[in-house]
Amino acid sequence: MIDQVVPRNRLIRTACELIESRGLALRRSRNSFRMTLTNNRVAASLIRGLSRRKILRKTRGNYPAPMKALEVVTRGSSMPLDDSLDLEREAALELARTEACRNLLRVHFLQERSKKASGRTLSRSRSLIGSAAVIGAGVMGAGIAHWLATKGVSVALKDIDHSRLDKGVSRIKRLLEGAVARDLLSLVEARDAMRRVLPTVDGGAVAASELVIESAVEDLDVKRDLIREIEGRVGPRAVVATNTSALSVSRIADGAERPERVVGLHFFNPVRRMPLVEVVRGEDTDDATMDRAVDFALQMGKTPVVVADSPGFLVNRILTPYLVEAGRMFEAGGDAVRIDQAMLAFGMPMGPLRLIDEIGGDVALHVAESLRASLGERFAPPPLLGRMRSAGLLGRKAGLGFYDYSESPARPNRGALALSPEGARRREAVSGTGDRLIALMLNESLRCLSEEIVEDPEDLDLAMILGAGFAPQTGGPLRYADALGASLLVSRLEAFRAVEGERFAPCDLLLETAELNQTIYPRKGES
Ligand code: NAD
Repeated sequence: MIDQVVPRNRLIRTACELIESRGLALRRSRNSFRMTLTNNRVAASLIRGLSRRKILRKTRGNYPAPMKALEVVTRGSSMPLDDSLDLEREAALELARTEACRNLLRVHFLQERSKKASGRTLSRSRSLIGSAAVIGAGVMGAGIAHWLATKGVSVALKDIDHSRLDKGVSRIKRLLEGAVARDLLSLVEARDAMRRVLPTVDGGAVAASELVIESAVEDLDVKRDLIREIEGRVGPRAVVATNTSALSVSRIADGAERPERVVGLHFFNPVRRMPLVEVVRGEDTDDATMDRAVDFALQMGKTPVVVADSPGFLVNRILTPYLVEAGRMFEAGGDAVRIDQAMLAFGMPMGPLRLIDEIGGDVALHVAESLRASLGERFAPPPLLGRMRSAGLLGRKAGLGFYDYSESPARPNRGALALSPEGARRREAVSGTGDRLIALMLNESLRCLSEEIVEDPEDLDLAMILGAGFAPQTGGPLRYADALGASLLVSRLEAFRAVEGERFAPCDLLLETAELNQTIYPRKGES
């Protein structure tokens, strides 16, 4: 059915070339030869056997559709056309009734809803941002500037000196080259995007910006000073945003001349791939600023979720107890690969230890420590993470973390094993790994809901799927908590609490939900 996949701007040209080269006719005859080879019972069963294993490796049994498609194609190939169409229809109906299908459809509709929330569908009548500025040309700043430039926005990019600025500009160049290599942008589009980036050290180019995103180091004093400096340069209507990952937006806005226009725009790393932006309302942020920030995220093709200004906002807060628990399991002698495998099997895109390596062990530790200071001991990182930081085992950026990245695929790092009290002795599977890690995320999700970090449960589920890759086929942590049942979740948490301690104490909302035999979402038939 499909001869070639090309970017939209090359569609007509490629189609004409294909027709002119009579490639289509050739390919068809080649295809029909291939079809006689494959469309028979023996070949089909061979293909089925080989492909099943490949599919299972990828879906881990969480997504029924690819397996069903394989079954329909291989069985249908030796059937009369009408029978094979019947088979296909029955399979589609069967799939539509699965929980995974319902949950995945729901994710799609939630994304659409987030775009349309309060009539906010981006329309021409809404004012689009044409020029922006990003302060700090590091990993995130350069990533944000790159994304804005590819979306047609002129971006002034500021850093403290030329060498840091140059690094940021080179990073943007590399990102654009990568996009061209993957056919996501044409050469002309990439060149135009690069022209929209205006590097600056003195900050002159920032003055004309309609929106400024501060993305310098995670330090309250630095950020406060920067906000004041930005306010001194930009016009009265400009929105001033901070990309802080864990500091309070309200405290960053302290001392601002007009704190009502200061807002959090929390992007996720890597910016070009992660669809979520948490839009953080500070104590003084006004509605007009919130609307403009949400519209801007939509203009950038991202999915905005409005969150309260609370430590870790939403995604990092729910993810952190899970990450530190995985670290604790490793410290107590758990096997890194088996801990990560357990979460891959659940449907997470990456295991927790691997994720710590990607985030950077130092960054993960910093976030955990700051959440512990404001929210309590359940966020306490295991001492091992501190030892790994001192030893420079900072994860992928250092080449070594829980894994050793000197070879591909990465293998467990013996250096990390040696730093745990259990030493490098034979590693073991930790019983109940998946249940234990998931229970902590679900409990924290319910806490966030009761503290009104988001307006409704659907925002939480969507943000966790888009921002943390929470197993999409489950419909998100709250949907999954409902599917498990509050009572079962309480008894799981209590069982872990008895052995592991108070960090597993079920939160009030969960206890109440279990006691009243309720669910977070209305049950079918309930309004
Ligand atoms: P980074 O260290 O890579 O970059 C920070 C940049 O800011 C550096 O180039 C530094 O020279 C520059 N800088 C410092 N002070 C400055 C000043 N006064 N004026 C202009 N530039 C200044 O850090 P990063 O990972 O890009 O993080 C930046 C911000 O984004 C932090 O607040 C961080 O918490 C947040 N964040 C990070 C991630 C992530 O995964 N790395 C994700 C979301 C948010």
